[in-house]
Amino acid sequence: MCPGCGSDLVQPLRAEQHGAELLVELRCPECFLVTQTCQTARELAALDRRQTASRELIVAAYERSVEESMTALADTLAEAFARDLLGPDDFAPLRRAA
Ligand SMILES: [Zn+2]
Repeated sequence: MCPGCGSDLVQPLRAEQHGAELLVELRCPECFLVTQTCQTARELAALDRRQTASRELIVAAYERSVEESMTALADTLAEAFARDLLGPDDFAPLRRAA
C-alpha cells in the first residue's frame, strides 16, 4: 500500500537481494511516490499476482470498450447506408484547398 496516498496499486520497479529479504523499489501510479521496502519473496509474489489480476481487469475493460466503439461505428454506418446518405464521394481522399 502506498504510504503517500493509501493506494493499493503500487508497482515494483526493481528488487535486489538484501539478506533473506528483497529490497524492493515501489512506485505509486496515483501519486507517483517512489518508496523502498523490504519484502519476502512470498510477499513480492503476492504483489505480482495482484498486478496480474489488475492487468487482466484493465485489458478486459479495454477490449469491452473497443468492442462497444466498433459496434457503434458499424451501427452508424449501417444506418447511413440504410438511409442512402452515403455515396462514393464520401470515401474519396480529402482534397486540399489550393
Ligand atoms: Zn500513492
